[in-house]
Amino acid sequence: MSTDADCLFCKIVDGEIPADVVAQTDEAVAFRDVNPQAPTHALVVPRSHFADAAALADGEPDTLASMVRVARDVAHAAGLDDYRLVFNTGEGAGQTVFHTHLHVLGGRAITWPPG
Ligand code: 5GP
Ligand code: ZN
Repeated sequence: MSTDADCLFCKIVDGEIPADVVAQTDEAVAFRDVNPQAPTHALVVPRSHFADAAALADGEPDTLASMVRVARDVAHAAGLDDYRLVFNTGEGAGQTVFHTHLHVLGGRAITWPPG
């Protein structure tokens, strides 16, 4: 499993930095976003370090599928059938942490198009 000693989300996966963990599997960890944009806002991250979703798809495609299932379970645990899943990819699209993470957003009306 690849890790990056300087990566914030690798440190959360390792427990070196605390987070409010809401679900975990052998492949992924889900925790509440520190700056929530909706009543439910969790991040699902792979335990392995990959910079973005496409790199994860190349390196561990099964983990990518597992993350979507974890996201669904987090949403259902919050009582949500409707939710939005987002992978920001690249700075221009709003990615600020380069350990891929799946945003799970719900609990309010989520509009389209996104900002
Ligand atoms: P991005 O902008 O890369 O798509 O999303 C990064 C997310 O990570 C942001 O929504 C931000 O609020 C969240 N975040 C940044 N630092 C921390 C942290 O230390 N703990 C937690 N729980 N979330 C963080
Ligand atoms: Zn990382």
